[in-house]
Amino acid sequence: MKNKILLIYTGGTIGMIKDNAENTLIPFNFYELLKAIPELKSDELDLVNISIQKPIDSSNMNPTVWIEIVQLIEVNYEEYDGFVILHGTDTMAFSASAISLMLKNLNKSVILTGSQIPIGVRRTDAKENLITSVEIAASGKVKEVCIYFENQLYKGNRTVKINTDHFEAFESPNYPILAEAGVNIKYKSYLEKGSSKNLKLNTEMSNNVAVLKLFPGITIETTKAIINSAKGIVIESYGAGNAPTNPGFIKVFKNATSNGKILINITQCLHGSVVEGKYETSELFRKSGVICGRDLTTEAAVTKLMFLLGNDLNNDDIKIQLQTNLRGEITN
Ligand code: ASP
Repeated sequence: MKNKILLIYTGGTIGMIKDNAENTLIPFNFYELLKAIPELKSDELDLVNISIQKPIDSSNMNPTVWIEIVQLIEVNYEEYDGFVILHGTDTMAFSASAISLMLKNLNKSVILTGSQIPIGVRRTDAKENLITSVEIAASGKVKEVCIYFENQLYKGNRTVKINTDHFEAFESPNYPILAEAGVNIKYKSYLEKGSSKNLKLNTEMSNNVAVLKLFPGITIETTKAIINSAKGIVIESYGAGNAPTNPGFIKVFKNATSNGKILINITQCLHGSVVEGKYETSELFRKSGVICGRDLTTEAAVTKLMFLLGNDLNNDDIKIQLQTNLRGEITN
């Protein structure tokens, strides 16, 4: 029997052409994409392609489009063996995290991929990325949301974009890769086992969140303004979770949490984890009611906060869930 794979096009460099008048890249008609990769036609594969209503450069990504994507997966879930989402690289890691949270009890593959060079350009990386993503989706071995890029399969909610120039554009700094594509595709033991329960969709996402990135010299006024701008704040602190010990900062954090805001502390470092209490400068966070985000990436922390705030939970539950491993996004 043929494997049925649904290709969902959302935009990004992979499907772009040059607008000669402006000399910029603009999205092109998705159906041209399959003409560009005849290798995708196979006797063992039934590949169907659809597109979101209005393909975008992924810098324009937002929760409404995430909802459109997960709804497309839900309505087609029974009919297809796997899903490949063509997506711009800029916000692919955010989308992978969001989609992993919005889809519960996943038992099929959802692979996001894209490219650094447009499909129509001779040195494009799009062909390999797309062909191997489809092969992985059809393998039946992957039952979670992943990013495939330049020979590596990453856990979606652990991935970050790390390079604008290289074909190796992504990394999952605190989680091993899930598969490696060489002559053969080698699947690793870190893959999720899948769920026997029915797929459950959750489309409630709040955008009442902000990111506060600390830097030497940041003022209390700026800190306060960012914290006041949203209900949930991801604090990107220094090293193992440290912040200035100036009492003015501590007061801002303490007031915010006492007034019902949710603050979560993650590190600016690419690798490693927040360890609150390791230094005095991080212990102050704990005493101020700031949640320890351990090794969550910024992308996962932001989307997890959007997801939990969107779901009408009380603050205590949100704080517990933030530190609970829901889809493999945080190390216990
Ligand atoms: N700006 C593009 C996007 O994210 C970049 C890419 O696809 O690589 O949509």
